[in-house]
Amino acid sequence: MNAEIISVGSELLLGQIVNTNAQFLSRHLAEMGVNVFYQTVVGDNSDRLLSTIQKAEERADLIIFTGGLGPTRDDLTKETIAAHLGKKLVLNDEAFKGIRQYFLKIGREMTENNKKQALVLEDCLVLPNENGMAPGMFVKSKNKFYMLLPGPPKEMQPMFEKYGRPAILNVLDRQESIVSRVLRFFGIGESQLETEIEDMIMNQTNPTIAPLAGDGEVTIRLTAKHRSKETANEMIDKVEKEILNRVGEYFYGYGQTTIAAELVQKLKQQNKTIACAESLTGGLFQSMITAVAGASAVLKGGIVCYTNEAKEHLVDVSKKTLDTFGAVSEQCAKELAENVRKKLNADIGISFTGVAGPDSLEENPPGTVWIGISEKGKESKVVLLKLAGDRNQIRNRTAKYGCHFLLRTCQ
Ligand code: ATP
Repeated sequence: MNAEIISVGSELLLGQIVNTNAQFLSRHLAEMGVNVFYQTVVGDNSDRLLSTIQKAEERADLIIFTGGLGPTRDDLTKETIAAHLGKKLVLNDEAFKGIRQYFLKIGREMTENNKKQALVLEDCLVLPNENGMAPGMFVKSKNKFYMLLPGPPKEMQPMFEKYGRPAILNVLDRQESIVSRVLRFFGIGESQLETEIEDMIMNQTNPTIAPLAGDGEVTIRLTAKHRSKETANEMIDKVEKEILNRVGEYFYGYGQTTIAAELVQKLKQQNKTIACAESLTGGLFQSMITAVAGASAVLKGGIVCYTNEAKEHLVDVSKKTLDTFGAVSEQCAKELAENVRKKLNADIGISFTGVAGPDSLEENPPGTVWIGISEKGKESKVVLLKLAGDRNQIRNRTAKYGCHFLLRTCQ
């Protein structure tokens, strides 16, 4: 099957937004064994959209649209397709109910144009929108398939994964199952990871091995095809085992998890509590931990001690330490971790002190970061990091490194 992705939206043509929808869909379609030979972008204009559709019909069996399903007048994707295919637009009760409930919930009057979002192509398979109002659609006409998805990625991505992908697989009538698994790594760069498994990447066929970097992390997506789902899973198990043999120390979880979520789970299992003293991260570490449901079982609390004054008065770092070694020092990180643990009566204390930049501090360049970890009844550990990136990347990575080291402490 050949597919073409048509991204609708003048904002894309004006360079105001990046076409991440096309990237997301292309990646998924490639994994599903569907060829994507063209991606097209077209503005919110019915005539130009129509000629784009006609062109796509000459070269693709499946045309996937994103955008233009909203309530306003420039949202014209489904109207253009309906007219082109000679199909009526009919009200979808489920979607209409959802829209009414949404307006009731936010206590605002539903304007008439919102009803338009509940109109779908007749005879289509409706793809429910669990994160917004406009439903998606999947329809067949004269041996071609058309899938209409909303523009906002937070609506489009879950809709595609939950409803769009299975609908396409269904019409592909494959004898094969396609199984994917995502492995998540932290603390290793993409190039280092790729080097460690280079021979495996070079020789990959089935399963395929696709590394992807972002946000200081690397993920590897393993995808296997086989008639039996069980065998496809076993094929992935084997490759995963080999990868973890080589870079397992950096692995922290599967799929959509976060390093903070894995840490919270681990601490819970071990019945351990933590307390933190945060300087350069300014509360970011605690924010990551509290973003995980159930964090109250493991996080006692923490202190943001940004200045030396706060380190001394709130976390009892000795003046001598600050005068002799400075705030960005092993000694300061150690005292912060030990004192905050004792103050909050936690099992583990963790501290972050360093230079987020752009300026140097105490002659330390940006990216110099000390993380202290103090555990009841054990010798404290202090780690020095030299991080690259801008101010926020350094702060973000520091907080994630905190999770990484705590996970290791809890091994
Ligand atoms: P809405 O109901 O929000 O109007 P829609 O389905 O009509 O949704 P658009 O109006 O085309 O979609 O786009 C809404 C928003 O979705 C855009 O402002 C943009 O933030 C995002 N978006 C649209 N298309 C893309 C794309 N191809 N890649 C990334 N983001 C996109």
